[in-house]
Formats: sequence, C-alpha cells, structure tokens
Amino acid sequence: MPQELRKQAIPYKPKKGEGYMSSKQLMHFRNILEGIKVELGQDIDRTVHTMQDEATIFADPNDRASQESDMALELRNRDRERKLIKKIDETIAKIDTGDYGYCESCGIEIGLKRLEARPTATLCIDCKTLDEIREKQVAK
Ligand SMILES: [Zn+2]
Repeated sequence: MPQELRKQAIPYKPKKGEGYMSSKQLMHFRNILEGIKVELGQDIDRTVHTMQDEATIFADPNDRASQESDMALELRNRDRERKLIKKIDETIAKIDTGDYGYCESCGIEIGLKRLEARPTATLCIDCKTLDEIREKQVAK
C-alpha cells in the first residue's frame, strides 16, 4: 500500500497555460499528503505493537536499562511522527481553504518543484533561508 502511494507521487506536470495550484495540482498534493499520513499511521501502529511485544520483564538490570532507553527512543519517534501528522493535517486544511502553495510569510508562490520535494513546506525558499539564519542567531 505505501509503495503504491509512492508510485503515484510522480511529479506533477502542469499543462500549458495551467495556472498555479489548479484543482488538479491541489488534488495531486492532497494525495501525496494523505499517503504520507497513512504511512506514518502505520509506523505508529507498529511502534505500539513493538512496545507491547517487548513488555517482558528482564531479570538482568542491564537488559532492563537498555529496554527502557529503547522505549524512550520509540516514544520520541512517536512524538515526532505525531507532530508530523499534525503538520500534514494543517497542510491539508490549507488545501481546503485555498492557502496551499503560497508562502506564509511573504505570500508568493512556493513553487511546484519545492512542494514536490517538501509537500508540507509553508515558506518559500527565501523566507525559509532567512528563517534558518535567524534560528542560528538565536541559538548562539
Ligand atoms: Zn516567502
């Protein structure tokens, strides 16, 4: 199933004279986003199962310690996936409201190429670059 979804996600080729973010393009990106969401959902299900499977109590304290750090890692991954799913939901909502594909900061078109690579991008490449420079300065 995820494999099929990926195969569908071939870059969209707009027809001559087709406007930016036409209904077909929106459909294309919605499919990609829904596909990623399905995959993430399956990952989370798998994590839950793994954790249940591993809920055996090890007699050796060393085993127990590594089991605990495995679980902490799993939980962090799950947290990251949940955030990503939230982000995807927000992005799909933007498709619904017609805001998808435009930079949140300056309002210009993010561009098909960038969206193919990062379907959840909310900033154009210029604003994103600026953002990253600012983040680095804050981190210093
Ligand atoms: Zn921008």
